[in-house]
Amino acid sequence: MTELQDLDRLFFEETALSLSRNVPLSSYSSFRIGGPADYFLEVHGLADLATAIKAARKCGLPFYVIGGGYNLLFDDAGYRGLIIRNSARGLRFQPEKSCLEAASGTNLSDLLGQALKQGLAGIEFLAGIPGTVGGAIFGNAGAFGQAIGDRVAEVTVLSGDGQEQTLSPEELHFEYRYSSLKKDHKIILKAALKVEPGSRPDMLKKVEDYLNQRARKHPPGEIPCAGSYFKNPVLPGGRKIPAGQLLEQAGARGMRVGQAAVYPGHCNFIINLGGATARQVLTLAAELKEKVWQSSGIKLEEEVIFVPANASML
Ligand SMILES: Cc1cc2nc3c(=O)[nH]c(=O)nc-3n(C[C@H](O)[C@H](O)[C@H](O)COP(=O)(O)OP(=O)(O)OC[C@H]3O[C@@H](n4cnc5c(N)ncnc54)[C@H](O)[C@@H]3O)c2cc1C
Repeated sequence: MTELQDLDRLFFEETALSLSRNVPLSSYSSFRIGGPADYFLEVHGLADLATAIKAARKCGLPFYVIGGGYNLLFDDAGYRGLIIRNSARGLRFQPEKSCLEAASGTNLSDLLGQALKQGLAGIEFLAGIPGTVGGAIFGNAGAFGQAIGDRVAEVTVLSGDGQEQTLSPEELHFEYRYSSLKKDHKIILKAALKVEPGSRPDMLKKVEDYLNQRARKHPPGEIPCAGSYFKNPVLPGGRKIPAGQLLEQAGARGMRVGQAAVYPGHCNFIINLGGATARQVLTLAAELKEKVWQSSGIKLEEEVIFVPANASML
């Protein structure tokens, strides 16, 4: 019996969950790029998510948790370990806390849909941002000057020793596209988000307005990409400069490497024209960074997360 089959068996004994083998990660990233994962598991409940992580740690099996895969670039070589796709969904309004509690694998669109249905205002800016609550909290996703971290009352995580922990927003150190979870590999199980009573017509109007604004600059849904490739650089005084503007001025328009190209409608999107590789995306991104550095002396930082084949949350 091979070492890999031993791992399969051990994992099953620990969890009663069956792993899939050699799963193409291109199917799980909005970039449509990525080689095979040795092991793959989709979980539909928080108990299974926690069990799978504890078992992977016990077996010494490197693992990486993903949500919707809307902010990721997988390696052409795939992943040497276990990719856990978190589809643990669930929503509950807690009137006593004025919070909507969401399991981390809940889609942001479902979260917003529920808020609209119940007339709970404050998270309309999430309209059109694809992905899960877990992915959004990890990277403090946002738009139109607001971010999910502003709405977090508390987040329940699974820490490295397998214990559940409740973290306050202060402990998560939210900043622009940043939370401390980017450093400490804690896994988000659920989150409580602050909402307030709102007028449904006003909320719907806001959502419609946000969606219209997004439609004007974002690539349409069928074009594979992972959202804005670079963060908007923040100047020492705190002012943000749109990365798209810097890229445009630096001459990024029309640039491409193989099948990876700058989106003509907005220079801060790298798109997959069909069959692009991670190598091509990374090469194009490096060329774009260099161009902006040469033209403005500003170092762009990636917003899209590259997941190398040997990444691990162990
Ligand atoms: C067309 C398009 C438009 C976009 N527009 C925006 C925008 O306006 N604003 C914005 O901020 N982003 C935007 N994005 C990026 C993306 O939607 C967000 O980053 C979103 O929050 C990603 O969520 P996800 O579930 O897909 O996370 P994934 O891409 O699956 O994962 C992202 C990171 O989060 C980590 N993660 C996921 N779940 C957990 C968990 N439960 N515990 C711990 N870590 C976890 C993963 O390990 C990974 O490192 C856009 C993307 C696309 C394709």
